Amino acid sequence: MFFTPQDRLFVLTGAGSSAESGLATFRGSGGLWNGHSVEQVATPEAWEADPELVWRFYSMRRRDALAAEPNAAHLALAQIECDLTGADPENFYLCTQNVDDLHERGGSQRVHHMHGSLFQSRCVRCNKPFTDQSFYETAAALPTCATCGSPVRPHIVWFGEIPLDMEGIYRELNRATALLVVGTSGSVYPAAGLVDVANRRGIRTVYVGPEEPLNARSFDEILLGTATAVLPTLA
Ligand SMILES: [Zn+2]
Repeated sequence: MFFTPQDRLFVLTGAGSSAESGLATFRGSGGLWNGHSVEQVATPEAWEADPELVWRFYSMRRRDALAAEPNAAHLALAQIECDLTGADPENFYLCTQNVDDLHERGGSQRVHHMHGSLFQSRCVRCNKPFTDQSFYETAAALPTCATCGSPVRPHIVWFGEIPLDMEGIYRELNRATALLVVGTSGSVYPAAGLVDVANRRGIRTVYVGPEEPLNARSFDEILLGTATAVLPTLA
């Protein structure tokens, strides 16, 4: 086994693992949707300017995510979690930048969506996220809060907003014995920050990706290849 039940593993996943299931993530530079830049559909300013456009974008992404299936990388991470958590369910923590639910549908249990969840919405005033698989594609269909009547927005961390539960993320990393980074650039935020913390603590660091990251020397091990090719070999 690549990781053992003595390990407490922190995993960070990014766009690469969803892309292999055919889902675009739109976070990269140059991401376009129907000719709109991400700034026009995924920022607080976009929401203020045109909530209908924002909801059409996220409704489309809900449709795409519902039609997608977990891939071999998602399944392998669920298997690794199963193998490590016999004694303690907290021996595995999966922090993902992806907003789809493919990790959950692949069988992962302990998943934190640092950039929010496609299938949750929240009232802009009450701020309490709730499960929501609906599509809102016309001005008349825009959702409002049953409690206070305020607009309901996607429970997504937009550009310029703070990732969810950074405190919990660092708490988990500070208890981990190994960090595995998959499907995201190792040399930019947030992976670069996490690997710095991991190196200060002296824990094992592993990078999985099709190309060497710029900060390859920050990792103990570099496993070159796509997430679906490499992760099944670790499970
Ligand atoms: Zn409300």
